[in-house]
Amino acid sequence: MIEPSQKNSRTQLKPIKVLVDLRVNAPLTLSEAKYAIRTLADIAGLACHFVTNPKEDSINLVYSDKQNDIDCQLFIRAASSADNVNFVSDPSPNNKIMDNDIVLATYMLISGLHERKMTRDKHDHHAVETSILYRSNLLHVPIVNQYGSTIRELFPSHNPLSLWPEGKTWAAAITHDVDYPQMIRWIEMLRYLIDKKGGSKLSVLTDIANGQNHFWMFKDWMDMEIRHEVRSAFYFSGRKGSLLKYLMGVPDPFYDVRSKEFKNIISHLKKNGFEVGLHASYNAYRSLNTFLEEKKIVEDSLAETLLGNRHHYWRINQDDPAETSFLHEEAGLLYDASICYERRAGFRFGIGTPYRLFHKHKKRTSKSLQLPTTLMDTHMSAHSMYNRFETPHAEIDSLLAETKKAGALFIVNYHVRMINDTFFPGVRRMFQKSLELISEDSECFCKTPIEIAQYWVTREKKIRDASCDDT
Ligand SMILES: [Zn+2]
Repeated sequence: MIEPSQKNSRTQLKPIKVLVDLRVNAPLTLSEAKYAIRTLADIAGLACHFVTNPKEDSINLVYSDKQNDIDCQLFIRAASSADNVNFVSDPSPNNKIMDNDIVLATYMLISGLHERKMTRDKHDHHAVETSILYRSNLLHVPIVNQYGSTIRELFPSHNPLSLWPEGKTWAAAITHDVDYPQMIRWIEMLRYLIDKKGGSKLSVLTDIANGQNHFWMFKDWMDMEIRHEVRSAFYFSGRKGSLLKYLMGVPDPFYDVRSKEFKNIISHLKKNGFEVGLHASYNAYRSLNTFLEEKKIVEDSLAETLLGNRHHYWRINQDDPAETSFLHEEAGLLYDASICYERRAGFRFGIGTPYRLFHKHKKRTSKSLQLPTTLMDTHMSAHSMYNRFETPHAEIDSLLAETKKAGALFIVNYHVRMINDTFFPGVRRMFQKSLELISEDSECFCKTPIEIAQYWVTREKKIRDASCDDT
């Protein structure tokens, strides 16, 4: 088991004493405020002791919308309304008082409430230009992690845990959605002819026709990654769609994961240390039974329990992501990696480290972790008009720089077919560059998503064990 580190490993985490004192009609309830503060403290590596009586305890942090007459190291002034929240990137306190309500800002971001005015298309994909983070140029910045770091810096004597183990300062994971690895040849010949217009080559058409030019790129991915001594995750679908269903608006993958060739490649991936996860179908998030059915089908091909998932088309309950996370919990998943925008790279919920979604009515967090995905191949191609930089490399460099600055986790998602150079020129080179930047950085904790989630759970347990709650 990989343990998180502290400056002095013999020291114990010393919880910060936190008082939450809110009026009855405050935007956050007590349990919501504690959830946001815990998430910030997790990033900071600090344990929390929630107290009720400021007279009996010496308080370190107060979160309140009342007059502050308590001597503490940090007073966060609670905003009176969610409309008054600023998603600032530098929330430094002034004379121990922070007027920016980073607790409410954090809650709104990590629960997805900041998206409530965004519009969505027929696939439920967000119009990213209607995002407040996009418009404020903050989608590239894990601002919740910046809030966490600010708190960490205030309490060094409480022996905070490092974010990552073994002296690493940031983390990365490579993932692949397995959507369309078996080319429908006549469709792709047509696509090639239309795309290339007069420039199409007979030799390429022949190669597509006889299967030499294909989308079954597993070996290429494995070779590249093994060469750099990294391992990735491949998410397979347990639902076989069809062209007809696709045309009728349910665009699920066409393959059957129970077939021999899929069983073989899955076993080959497993044998070589790669992770296999579930790529839940377009509508799987709507029903636990459907989800479990698909999970079981992929598990049968893997001959092992699945621990991770990403939803096809990023399809979760967009109005209530926590509801989908509780479905993951019921399905026994360790993690899900479906929080990301279809059309724009970055930190959709403003957070760049693993976190948990909070159920408003159950008043607790999901047992299944969220690993936020940062970048998808098509952000750099089909959706490049939403990019902030002129070239994909500049876009990736800027994302990586922000990730490193915040000590965050950089998860990339490349579809299996995307390194076919005929159809997606430049993607292989783009991936190779990211791979080099990740694998050659000695400060990067580059692991499979399962390993990252397992590490995070261990770190979180250490923090919870040192925490307590008198409220
Ligand atoms: Zn997909």
